[in-house]
Amino acid sequence: MPELPEVESVRRGVDEWTAGTTITGAEVVDPRILGTTSRRRIDSSAVDAFATAVSGVRILGAERRGKFMWLSLGEQVGLSAGPELGILLHLGMSGQLRIHSPGEEIHRHTRAVLHLDSDRELRFVDQRIFGHIGVQPLVHGYGRLVPASAIHIAPDPLEPAFDPEIVVAELGRKRTAIKAALLDQTLISGIGNIYADEALFRAGVHPLATPARTRKSRLVAVLESAATVMGDALAVGGTSFDSLYVNVNGESGYFDRALLVYGRGGQECVRCGAAIEKITVGGRGTHFCPICQKPPRYR
Ligand SMILES: [Zn+2]
Repeated sequence: MPELPEVESVRRGVDEWTAGTTITGAEVVDPRILGTTSRRRIDSSAVDAFATAVSGVRILGAERRGKFMWLSLGEQVGLSAGPELGILLHLGMSGQLRIHSPGEEIHRHTRAVLHLDSDRELRFVDQRIFGHIGVQPLVHGYGRLVPASAIHIAPDPLEPAFDPEIVVAELGRKRTAIKAALLDQTLISGIGNIYADEALFRAGVHPLATPARTRKSRLVAVLESAATVMGDALAVGGTSFDSLYVNVNGESGYFDRALLVYGRGGQECVRCGAAIEKITVGGRGTHFCPICQKPPRYR
């Protein structure tokens, strides 16, 4: 599943190729991509409505909060100004966004195509259809305009609206395991399962520690570690947009994530040599070093 650095990398590529272009038409190859994970049955009027809503609209840019990415839209040609709209592009588990020239071979898992006046196409490819594309009004959420379905999503550590002091204060009231709190998208977004484990290891905090009983300096260290590991991943992988190919998980694969604990259950800790342990926290596989991340004493 793409994590925040991959989504940000894709956003940069999409922004580079689409900002300032006008959508000349849209095809929904598989209507299920207009639905949500809980509702995939889409009637044909929704397909027509989508194509009509986006045709003739200028793309202002590609934006992101957490793993939510969207194209912010200008006014539709020939129509007066309405509410501000965006096209949500959620990659889900396996979604990819690709830029192609018209006439290039259509990948068999292509679900939707936006035709651009730059003589390019933005194609949404998604093998498993956990992703989503759809037009939404933009609403105010945590200090900026976001798609309506992302209104409950808190800022992520890589965006300017992220305020570490507010997040530490809120985190410090939580009585759930800190690993679960880091995955709570209403508190802080964009930290997926992988980077939560990595951040806790780097900060030396046990995944079952209770935030409300953890020193504030330790909570700050966890948040700083999360921003650092995701920023490092982005720096490594966010540089190759000279090709006509914006790909989140194709042949080039994910970023070369320099993972110290995630997926290393039973292997030696890179710091102390102890065996990395794997447990389940909040239903998610969780990796930690029992020596470097001391178990909370109050348990
Ligand atoms: Zn260790």
